[in-house]
Amino acid sequence: MAERPPPLLLRGGHRGDAVRDLQARLLALGSAIDADERGAFGPSTERAVREFQQRRGLVVDGIVGRDTWRELVEASWKLGDRTLYLRSPQLRGDDVRDLQARLSALGFDAGRVDGIFGPQATRALREFQANYGLPADGILGDFTVRALKGLPARAGETPVAHIREREALRRLPQTLAGMRLVLDPGHGGADHGRSGPSGLREDRFAFDLALALEAELAASGAAVFFTRDEHAGPSEHERAALAQRVGADLYIALHAGGAEDPRAGGAAVYFYGNERWESAAGRRLAETILDEAAALGLTHAGAHPKTFAVLRETRMPAVQVEPGFLTNPEEESLLSDPAFVARLAGAIAGALRRFPAEPARA
Ligand SMILES: [Zn+2]
Repeated sequence: MAERPPPLLLRGGHRGDAVRDLQARLLALGSAIDADERGAFGPSTERAVREFQQRRGLVVDGIVGRDTWRELVEASWKLGDRTLYLRSPQLRGDDVRDLQARLSALGFDAGRVDGIFGPQATRALREFQANYGLPADGILGDFTVRALKGLPARAGETPVAHIREREALRRLPQTLAGMRLVLDPGHGGADHGRSGPSGLREDRFAFDLALALEAELAASGAAVFFTRDEHAGPSEHERAALAQRVGADLYIALHAGGAEDPRAGGAAVYFYGNERWESAAGRRLAETILDEAAALGLTHAGAHPKTFAVLRETRMPAVQVEPGFLTNPEEESLLSDPAFVARLAGAIAGALRRFPAEPARA
């Protein structure tokens, strides 16, 4: 399938070549789509899109926007389909993820298994090539693919990606003093995010929660950075890049949940993970925040691995906190209440204090 610019949005009821292309990609990935639906975005196509979104850690809405399309393209790459090398923008896809997982299992430090071919994957590939008598050029071509595919992973060994995460956690200071925290209030600018039946907007809620959290952290000695001011709406990529630039130790994105069903609700926290790998540090930070939030009487909707750009492109423990559903009238009214927002901020700050001090640091 040829690369082409992604369609802006595909959803139920659409027809034509773009839908045909979408269906061809889904079918190639093993989805089932009714034969009489070809070229038309009907119920079986929507089901296939939802299943794909669920499996790939995307927002599950049955609509094909930019993120879902990008993920469809990435999912179609198999190891050896193309030459991998360091370029800008960096190559992304399941072939990269497969390479990282294989290198990691063989004892080479290819970084997180995130499907992004960056400098660390290049270094690990060079080391692998040097060790196996191949030209150490950091380029994944036919010879190197053949060598990699011919090797079994070392049984019983912990992949390097996991060991590195544990080491990074051990290097964290034991208290928040001196730590650099990035607070990322979601949306902003022209993007208001979700909104509730009484009119509470997600961008507003997220910013207020970030301010309350900053106030809670004021005495902790941590340096706090915001990814945006009240009215700006930087891209996800810019937000992640800022965290890299300031050398953040922890990254906290703040959003609210939502669903078509107004009864749906609960507090969820997301961290980076895909079908091959998840960030153990991210999971633990997510679970620590949920523990503290449970004390506020919020329904526990769980910690879940997701592939959201801010989680994928940051290199420190990162979470996206969604303490309630704006589309649930009861939860919207809680999230509208400044006193509740302050308690929520207190709970998150409590989790951030507990996280680095916890004795079981893995
Ligand atoms: Zn959001």
